[in-house]
Amino acid sequence: RNNKHFRPTKAIIDLDAIKYNVLQLKKHIHPNVKIIAVVKANAYGHGDVEVAKAALEAGASMLAVATPEEALHVRKHLPTVDILVLGYSPVSFAEYAANENITLTVYSSDWVEEAKKSCNKPLKLHIKVDTGMHRIGVTSEKELRSLYEKIQSAEQFILDGIFTHFATADEEDDSYFQKQANRFEQFLKALPEKPRLVHVANTATALIKDARLQYDAVRFGISMYGLAPSEFVKSKLPYPLKPAFSLETELVAVKQIGPGESVGYGATFTAEQPTYIGTLPIGYADGLIRKYSGQDVLIDGKRVPIVGRICMDQCMIALPAAYNIGEKVVLIGKQKNEEITIDEWAAKVDTINYEVPCIITSRVPRIYY
Ligand code: PLP
Repeated sequence: RNNKHFRPTKAIIDLDAIKYNVLQLKKHIHPNVKIIAVVKANAYGHGDVEVAKAALEAGASMLAVATPEEALHVRKHLPTVDILVLGYSPVSFAEYAANENITLTVYSSDWVEEAKKSCNKPLKLHIKVDTGMHRIGVTSEKELRSLYEKIQSAEQFILDGIFTHFATADEEDDSYFQKQANRFEQFLKALPEKPRLVHVANTATALIKDARLQYDAVRFGISMYGLAPSEFVKSKLPYPLKPAFSLETELVAVKQIGPGESVGYGATFTAEQPTYIGTLPIGYADGLIRKYSGQDVLIDGKRVPIVGRICMDQCMIALPAAYNIGEKVVLIGKQKNEEITIDEWAAKVDTINYEVPCIITSRVPRIYY
């Protein structure tokens, strides 16, 4: 399944780690709670179809994506699994969704009214309620009831679920989280009947919060990939996580520069003594944004820094010795006794771990084992 790759830069995805993380979650949650594997954004950059298959094998029973396009892509490879689009779908997608047995998120009566006209086949819907994210979702019981009635009165529409999303589940301060959880209960009480799947829990909620919030299903994203949602959750994890994503390449050029000589655009790094410079075939067009300059990578089990500005397709590292062309370099992952984590890359540019694999572009092949 892996085509021939010539450039040595690749992301290695450990599907056994994905399976392990799902199996551990399965042991942690109530036995009748379902696992919705969140594989949006190409499975947070890990590869949606491969991750979905691994997650399903390990016990997930449903997939969640963000967009219609993502749902169609997964559907092409997995013809029968339940797929939920978490984000907005235009009315024009309703008919496609019905044909492909894709479940959509709704939060507007007008949407249902319009979709009814173009979509005559059975279509499964989950209602999104806004309990505090203020992103998408109905905001009042009145709106919820009228949406509920609209769905029930359209005979082709099947109300299959209701859900919300938490803004602060991964934080130590519980107050906003509790407000949202209580607000969700109020919404549920406003419904004449609960649909099959009530779900609110993201990773943080599923791992460290009151088990009642698991309801019928949990939406498992970041920790399926072996990453903690925050430093706070990391300190409370009920089981250790296994990261699934490594990023590797090889030296493609090595040279020694003298004192006073510089490296890269803008000549921003200048050697103070004779220094070996190695070139890596990975740059910002691969998702290695320029802000990562200065980040360590591993060669021969040792940490060495990226020096100078990162170019579009290449970057340079300072080497402790004259390594050979072809020497393996690990940007994310383990080498000998050293490890560089996604969390470290995220901290380097003051962002969250979610963002790091997501922005590794499609030019970097994902290799699975
Ligand atoms: N549910 C929704 C609606 C989301 O947007 C996300 C991710 O952003 C998730 C679940 C998964 O969250 P996490 O990756 O923290 O488990």
